[in-house]
Amino acid sequence: MPFTPLHTGFAYLLYKLSRGKANLLAIIIGSMVIDIECPIVYILSGFSYTHSIMHSIIFGICVGTLLTTLTVIIVSRVNFLRSILEVFILIKDSSLDIVVASSVAGSASHLLLDIFTHFYGLPFLWPVVCMGITATTYETCIAVNVVSAILTLWLIIDILRGKLKTEA
Ligand SMILES: [Zn+2]
Repeated sequence: MPFTPLHTGFAYLLYKLSRGKANLLAIIIGSMVIDIECPIVYILSGFSYTHSIMHSIIFGICVGTLLTTLTVIIVSRVNFLRSILEVFILIKDSSLDIVVASSVAGSASHLLLDIFTHFYGLPFLWPVVCMGITATTYETCIAVNVVSAILTLWLIIDILRGKLKTEA
């Protein structure tokens, strides 16, 4: 997806579908953490491309889940960080398996959306298949981005209404 924060909309939909059982912070961070490689890859590639092995299913989900789980653990234990985030959402103290499962869901949703929004293909099956893979058309890309924007707006509205301070 061209704009990483738009991944949070689908993450929020997944959270809602779990009926609040998922960890909201983990699923949201997991939905964005895979793009952490983009600025690094962009500089290292001489400003020619942005996506690499973090956008493979194996590496993306494993490393994305690890980074997300560590971040959630740190944020929930460091009072300063926790109090900043709790201005917007309630930080739920979930069990480790819930945090990991939510992180996997967030990272997997990121990769799934990227399949439908990148024309040049991403290395989803690396290291088995090194070539870029895409499943999108111009219309599909526009539709996925519009739906993502609407879902992200839903998340923002719920945050602004203070709804996530009590139900997360
Ligand atoms: Zn991505």
